[in-house]
Amino acid sequence: MLDQVAIDALRGLPVADQGHFIDGATVPSESGASLEVLSPIDGRPFTRIASGSAVDAGRAVASARDAFEDGRWSRTAPAHRKKVLLKLADLIERDALALTVLGVRDNGTEITMALKAEALSAAATFRYYAEAIDKVYGKIAPTAENVLGLIHRAPVGVVGAIVPWNFPLMIGAWKIAPALAMGNSIVLKPAETASLSLLRLAEIATEAGVPDGVFNVVTGPGAVVGEALALSMDVDILVFTGSGATGRRLLEYSARSNLKRCYLELGGKSPNIVFADAPDLAKAAKVSAAGIFRNSGQVCVAGSRLLVQEDVHDAFVSAICKEAEALKVGDPLDLASQIGAVHSLPQLEADLKFVGLAEAEGAERRTGGDRILTETGGYYMAPTVMTGVKPTDTIARQEVFGPVLAVTAFKDEADAVRIANSTDYGLAAGVWTSDLGRAHRMIAGVRSGVIHVNTYGGSDLTVPLGGMKQSGNGHDKSLHALDKYVDLKTAWIQL
Ligand code: NAD
Repeated sequence: MLDQVAIDALRGLPVADQGHFIDGATVPSESGASLEVLSPIDGRPFTRIASGSAVDAGRAVASARDAFEDGRWSRTAPAHRKKVLLKLADLIERDALALTVLGVRDNGTEITMALKAEALSAAATFRYYAEAIDKVYGKIAPTAENVLGLIHRAPVGVVGAIVPWNFPLMIGAWKIAPALAMGNSIVLKPAETASLSLLRLAEIATEAGVPDGVFNVVTGPGAVVGEALALSMDVDILVFTGSGATGRRLLEYSARSNLKRCYLELGGKSPNIVFADAPDLAKAAKVSAAGIFRNSGQVCVAGSRLLVQEDVHDAFVSAICKEAEALKVGDPLDLASQIGAVHSLPQLEADLKFVGLAEAEGAERRTGGDRILTETGGYYMAPTVMTGVKPTDTIARQEVFGPVLAVTAFKDEADAVRIANSTDYGLAAGVWTSDLGRAHRMIAGVRSGVIHVNTYGGSDLTVPLGGMKQSGNGHDKSLHALDKYVDLKTAWIQL
């Protein structure tokens, strides 16, 4: 149970300047360079992180490679790795509130969501993959009697993981936990604006018994540290969550270096489709509002395009505007706030620009659209609903990654599927209907990695998350994710 007194005791704690975490120790950048960390809560600086270079990235990769080759983790018994990762899950839970408050000061997510989606979700992820370690194994092929074909699952080696700022611990854990479970070493590159909780996670991992060099973190600009990791001849695979533009670059870096496999989890412009026969339109409006506005819309699967059947369009728009206006936006460390801060000033400015552009293209601003709470110095934006959006408008095609909902009316099922599939993305979708047959036709017809029926945004670790089309390849979560972190190796034995 979250307690405001406990949160307030943590919110103002001084945070020491941070180094990289390489070979089990905190180290400064070789150049001594660092970056100021501003809190989106009030726009004020509260610590500095090391600004890494290609040299720092290289040191971390060398440390990870040494650790992998000498087998200090990669060749330990699965039961040992399981014990260590279970302990890590326990330690994350022990420190859950401190980790969450630190993360919220860094990225602005409302604490009620952050505790669940960040620290507690990361603990659950480590536990899930720890438990899987001794339950997944290779196969024996059905060969002729005089040969034996063994299919081994071998760790790939050094994993380069590059993650974004919206849910650093959750998304970080989705990559770190299965990679460590399979025996790999890691170099993690967090977003420049959300590194603190992941640096702390690396220290906790050491406390849990992850050997030095197995889990390294290098902070700093993506175009420097991330690029160096992606170009490294000694990184075996890249796992990435972030924008399509960066994903494209990673594929180029791979082609220019060692052809490392790149697993990309990219953005979305997810359609949330409300039919007139939805079982409960009031509930649909409430859940749909949460589905776009939580974490200020900075959620990869956010239902940012609302497609509403013509017959119920006006009533549904009124209902969702009411829901948007009722959401309390404010200090993300205040338990009364339902929506926290936009994570940075450039992001807030980009969100506001999208609203202006939508108006210029003919959409109508029904609610929100402005920066609010400017007196705090923080980066807050009112939940925004734009109607009359054409499928060809910029706001219907490009990811805003802010609290901005684009509403489009549709005629019938065929029209809904056509509009839903009319973007380059294919990450998530929602459909609200009482007709079971229609629900299944929509599941088959809408091209997205996940589709919610009569809800929006639910999930757990047992199901994969990943995109179709330009929302990426490769999936996080579930046992399927383990396959990214192993190479299949055949032993052909003549008997
Ligand atoms: P981003 O691509 O700008 O940055 C992501 C990471 O890549 C950061 O660590 C950044 O430093 C690094 N990076 C930037 N330039 C790089 C380069 N040239 N080489 C290597 N690394 C580089 O994305 P962002 O703004 O941090 O995150 C928001 C995006 O992430 C949105 O598009 C969102 O939809 C997406 N996202 C996707 C999922 C998913 O599961 N599909 C989840 C969350 C966020």
